[in-house]
Amino acid sequence: MSETITAAAAEALFPTYARFPITLVKGEGSWLWDDAGNRYLDFVSGIAVTNLGHAPKAIKEALVKQLDELWHVSNLFQIPNQAEAAKLLTDNSCGDAVFFCNSGAEANEAAIKLARRYQQVAQGNGRYEIITFEQSFHGRTLATLTATGQAKVKEGYAPLPEGFTTILLNDISAVEAAVSDKTAAIMLEMVQAEGGVYPVDGTYVKALAELCQKEGILLIVDEIQTGMGRTGKLFAYEHFGIEPDIFTLAKGLGSGFPVGAMVAKERLREGFTAGSHGSTFGGTPIATAAVKATIETIVGDKLSARAAEQGDYLMSQLREKLAGVNKVQDVRGLGLIVGIECDGPVASIVTAAQKRGLLVITAGPNVIRLLPNLLVTKEEIDEAVTILAELLEAS
Ligand SMILES: *Cc1c(COP(=O)(O)O)cnc(C)c1O
Repeated sequence: MSETITAAAAEALFPTYARFPITLVKGEGSWLWDDAGNRYLDFVSGIAVTNLGHAPKAIKEALVKQLDELWHVSNLFQIPNQAEAAKLLTDNSCGDAVFFCNSGAEANEAAIKLARRYQQVAQGNGRYEIITFEQSFHGRTLATLTATGQAKVKEGYAPLPEGFTTILLNDISAVEAAVSDKTAAIMLEMVQAEGGVYPVDGTYVKALAELCQKEGILLIVDEIQTGMGRTGKLFAYEHFGIEPDIFTLAKGLGSGFPVGAMVAKERLREGFTAGSHGSTFGGTPIATAAVKATIETIVGDKLSARAAEQGDYLMSQLREKLAGVNKVQDVRGLGLIVGIECDGPVASIVTAAQKRGLLVITAGPNVIRLLPNLLVTKEEIDEAVTILAELLEAS
């Protein structure tokens, strides 16, 4: 089907990833094939990117149509797809204004910039501090790795930008102690994904939103991994009865076409004026054709509800089949982001699963993370659960 990578070609890359020795060459729905013709059930989805499965027809058709017409013009010109994609995002969320970029880190970078500029320019109050949480993940740029609550992503990158504080999650007194007249925004994930699949406490997040409102602090929700239907709602904040001032998207937003977005409430519009932020590639006709088709498909086909249903099934099957397994400490998640916490490292389970034709990933050393696409079937879930139960029992 395709050529294997030569050693010389592999050497031409920076070794920033500890890659598995698997070369995937074709994908369809929940399934992937490697260059030796082996088939895999994909419960990674490119890390919550291919939420509609591999090569979804509606997105492919929208992309091909746009590829035939126009690729890129610059944001100096009107881009209908971009405006229409923004309208779809605001019609289906609590947000009113959208900025398109190319990745999750850039979306969070835009959120941090907007929060500061809104406070400093529109409000004129000089606030700059961003409060984030331990075990969070917000990206790899200098600002977003500083916002990230994990030491391993910061190592060797000093000096880091100023104005970030990281505190304990699910502890409202920690927030009260950390906020000051310098606090511009508080940023968090509704499910800490990279940090180990920890849904935020519902009572806490409501109290946090109230505190933000009372103190004039902006609430930023990082929906980069949880957004686009994955948790059983289009956006995960909907589960918690809160409305963020700003939320960020990337991963599933283009169904595999790289694109990010920052969505904010009406009053924040004045934070970003002409020339205050920008991106060459942000929201190209092609990228936003993918966004439009993705949202239309998820909303039109009610895939968030489907994700909720399939997620409940996955979680109940795991809880049932793993009930007596000593190694397993916890099964948790929200919709189709599910974590299996074990009493020790799970890297060997991940590679053993690959040999059985199942792709899963970790979230920290001890947690197996499952991220099937939103169209995953009960039969595919049964197959994955059977393989995982056998491997965990034997380990
Ligand atoms: C993946 C991710 C990011 C970073 O996105 P990139 O596209 O890799 O820059 C930020 N926040 C969360 C929650 C993520 O899962």
